[in-house]
Amino acid sequence: MFIGAHVRTRGGYLNAAKTALSIGAKAFQYFPMNPRSLATKVVDRKDANACAQLCVEHGILSIGHAPYALNPAADEPEREIMVNLLKNGLDITNACGSVGLVVHFGKYTGKDPLQGYKNIIQCLNSATEGYTGASFILLENQAGEGSQLGLTFEEMVQVRKLCDSPEKIGFCLDTCHAFASRLWQGTDWAELESKGDQLDYLPHLKAIHLNDSVHPWGSRRDRHANIGSGHIGISNFQSLLHSPYLRDIPIVLETGTGRDGTHREEIAFVNSLLERKCEDDSCILR
Ligand SMILES: [Zn+2]
Repeated sequence: MFIGAHVRTRGGYLNAAKTALSIGAKAFQYFPMNPRSLATKVVDRKDANACAQLCVEHGILSIGHAPYALNPAADEPEREIMVNLLKNGLDITNACGSVGLVVHFGKYTGKDPLQGYKNIIQCLNSATEGYTGASFILLENQAGEGSQLGLTFEEMVQVRKLCDSPEKIGFCLDTCHAFASRLWQGTDWAELESKGDQLDYLPHLKAIHLNDSVHPWGSRRDRHANIGSGHIGISNFQSLLHSPYLRDIPIVLETGTGRDGTHREEIAFVNSLLERKCEDDSCILR
């Protein structure tokens, strides 16, 4: 399976892929552009293509994560900035050979939530207009902190369906957010899987953010914990990891690094969970 972690892009995209390889990752996530800015970036195609090539050679998968402030639900005056960023991000993830560009579903603080959904659809339509690349826009579910949008499969499926080019849009499921938002109880993966299948969410699942949750179920708080150190529980992660929908997609940790400053140990730990069954959460990492 394609288990990995978020890695730094210091030194470029090729370097990010090399870092992933060096820690035993079969998948990685990186920031295509500055995560804390809304400025677009000039693509270093040579570096991006070298990254793509290394990934093919070693059979590893990657995803890019859009800047935090990229909000597809933003109202009209900001739309153009968001669309340009999405186009720029997709250009980079394509050049890097990545599965997709992960974008938070969007926050809308206005009175009418329907306007928020309309904004997202219009933003996605403009961003995918004339786009012919292989990288998907991957909508990530939210924890419910500060906004109630993007917490359910129903919303995400509906938004995708209503877009002009749904075939360019897929989903990234963040396990911490799913637990915080009450989407996933932890113990009910089987039910959630059949629901996600029926609603046509899981057939378009292209990536996983594998995070435990610092806060208890339904907290609506977005604080990631290392796998086994939070409230989700190892056996619940095992049920999720054994899903056939996770077999061929990048599964990326967005958790704190270990004692050596990398995710090497945690990746090995997650891989070990696939080999054994832990019934009582006794097999913790540390
Ligand atoms: Zn995430």
